[in-house]
Amino acid sequence: MKVEIDQESGFCFGVLSAIGKAEEELKQEEPLYCLGDIVHNDIECQRLSDMGLCTINHEQFANLSNAKVLFRAHGEPPSTYKTAKLNNITLVDATCPVVLKLQQRIHNQYLNMDISQGQIVIFGQRGHAEVLGLVGQTDGTALVIENIDEIEQIDFSKNIYLYSQTTKSASSYNKLIETIKERIDKNIEFIHHNTVCGQVSRRREHIREFAASHSLVFFVAGKKSSNGKVLYNECLSVNPHSYHIEGKEDIDTSLIIDSVESIGICGATSTPKWLMEECRNHIIDYLDCKNGNKN
Ligand code: SF4
Repeated sequence: MKVEIDQESGFCFGVLSAIGKAEEELKQEEPLYCLGDIVHNDIECQRLSDMGLCTINHEQFANLSNAKVLFRAHGEPPSTYKTAKLNNITLVDATCPVVLKLQQRIHNQYLNMDISQGQIVIFGQRGHAEVLGLVGQTDGTALVIENIDEIEQIDFSKNIYLYSQTTKSASSYNKLIETIKERIDKNIEFIHHNTVCGQVSRRREHIREFAASHSLVFFVAGKKSSNGKVLYNECLSVNPHSYHIEGKEDIDTSLIIDSVESIGICGATSTPKWLMEECRNHIIDYLDCKNGNKN
């Protein structure tokens, strides 16, 4: 039986760079704090915690001073930078350059518009760290909509400037754009920006092909990963025998029946390669044991 790891799955460059920065800083053996989970993957967070990374929340951050703090790839709103300055925090800013650029675009839009005439709309997951960072660029005025059903929250009498969280699905973003176009009057300005991350959109198509090419698929990702949800749904859409697991402990070996010809292991942009390898090794050990018992 073939057991294959998807070579395109695993950390995107934003997450890879943030983790690289954390590992580099940890070598200096000084305390290093990380504001929020460095990646939406508990197992990888635990690995870094074992190396000395101390994850804190925003409340703890506000009470911290004279310390070194890493900002993860999701980015932070301007208010967090202000707090850092006030509290003499040394920053290791690992905000992904793609997110940083999106923050700047939204900020420039906000500075150059009349709020009584227009609105910034962000298609994203309410409360998600990246989205909080984006909304912060507008002094909290941007409207966040999570899906097409929330479209009524948009004020259609005002101009609309639309952006997407980087990890949203490009097809649902396009659907939203089309629906807004159908609703607006000719005298209303509607500008939408293509801000879905290329790392994410390219993977969706690829992961569909990968999942379709195997009889059984284990999709490895943390349950909190927004990108994980998108990519897992892609696997499910082409292969109903796709299972979302967080690590090797979640592998249900009773699914590996004799009719299974091949098993695919894939994951999100927040899934470490070593974790997928661990899952593959676990399956191979199980198969060796099963076949040994048969012989
Ligand atoms: S998914 Fe894209 S935008 Fe988000 S951290 Fe990764 S590279 Fe950056």
